[in-house]
Amino acid sequence: MDTTVLPEQEAAANLMSIQSAPATRTYAHERGLSTMTQEPDTPVNRSLSRRSLFVAAAAVGVGAAVGTVGTASASGAWSNPTYGTITSGFKPPSRPTHSGTDVANSQGTAIWTAKGGKVVGVRTNSYPGDTRPGLLPGRTGNAVLVDHGGGYRTYYGHILSAGVTNGQTVTSGQYIAAMGTTGNSTGPHLHFEVLRNGTPINPYTHMANQGVTLGSSRPISGTGGGWTTFKKGNTGARVRVIQYLLKAHGNSSLVVDGDFGTVTHNAVRSFQTSKGLVADGVVGPISWARLVLDVKSGASGNKALAAQTALNHHGAGLLVDGDFGSVSVKAAKAFQKKKYLVQDGHIGVLTWQAFI
Ligand SMILES: [Zn+2]
Repeated sequence: MDTTVLPEQEAAANLMSIQSAPATRTYAHERGLSTMTQEPDTPVNRSLSRRSLFVAAAAVGVGAAVGTVGTASASGAWSNPTYGTITSGFKPPSRPTHSGTDVANSQGTAIWTAKGGKVVGVRTNSYPGDTRPGLLPGRTGNAVLVDHGGGYRTYYGHILSAGVTNGQTVTSGQYIAAMGTTGNSTGPHLHFEVLRNGTPINPYTHMANQGVTLGSSRPISGTGGGWTTFKKGNTGARVRVIQYLLKAHGNSSLVVDGDFGTVTHNAVRSFQTSKGLVADGVVGPISWARLVLDVKSGASGNKALAAQTALNHHGAGLLVDGDFGSVSVKAAKAFQKKKYLVQDGHIGVLTWQAFI
C-alpha cells in the first residue's frame, strides 16, 4: 500500500513537499482559478463556480483538438508527457506515499504519451474535489493508464478529459489528455507515474535515463498552456508565424509584416469565430492549438513558411522559401534534439509549442 494517496493528502502535501523551490509553493494551489479566469481563450464566464468552470471547460473540450495535430512517433522512444513546473517529486520525505511526479501548468494543457503502447485504463467521470477511488488503488480523479510492454506502464492523473479510449493503441508523443485538477487535487497538474511490473518507480530519474527532463523543457511564461500569448501591439518573428498560419487557414489577403495591428487582430477574430472560439483577437493556448498545422518533409506554402520562420526564431538560419525540404527537416530535427523531443523532423503540436 505504499502507493496509497490518502484523502486530502494530495492536497496538503502538494504544498508541503515543495522544499527546494519556495517561490513555487503556492503555484499549484492558486494557479487553478487565476489561470482559468485570466485565460483569454477560455470561453467560460468569470463568475462561474469552480465546479461549473470545470464542467464548462470539459464540455468545450479544451485541448481535445490538439489531438488532430499531435506529434506522434512510432519509434517507441520515451517522450516528455507535458510542459510545466514540477511541484512535487516521487516520495519526498514529507510525502512518503506520493508515487509520482507532479507537473503543474494551466487547465487544458496538452498531455502526450511518454511512450508508445496500448491504453489499458481510462476514467472520465470524476470532478475536482472527488475523493472516490480511481483507476489505481489510492488514486483519485480522471486518469489514463498506458501499457508499454516489457513490464512498463505510465499513469496520467487528475486530467480534465481524455483524448483516447480504453484499448486504443498509441504512439510515443501522441496527445492523450488535457491537464486538469480532478480528484483530490488543489490545482491543474499532471500526476505522472511510471510503473515497472506494477510498482511505481521514480518518474524523474527514469525519464532522465531516457534523455527526457520532466517539467523543465519549457519554463512557464505566465500565460498558461506552455504557449506564449500574443495580442495587438506585439511584433516580431512569432507574429509573422501567426500571420503565415492565418494565411494557411485561408486568409489570403493578410500581409505578413510581423506587426500585430488592427488588421491581424481582426483576422484572428475571424479565425476564432470560424472555430467556435471566443473572438477576442488574442492568440492564447487554445487559439494556438487550433492555429498550428502539421508540417513535414515535402510541405510547402504558408504553413512551411510559418515553420521555417519559427525555426529561424530559434537560430536555424534557413532560407524562408516555403519549401520544407531536407535542409528544413534537418534543422527541425536539431531543434527537437535540443528540446528533448522525438527527432523526426515533423512539426506537430509538441514541436510547435516548443517553438512558441
Ligand atoms: Zn501527484
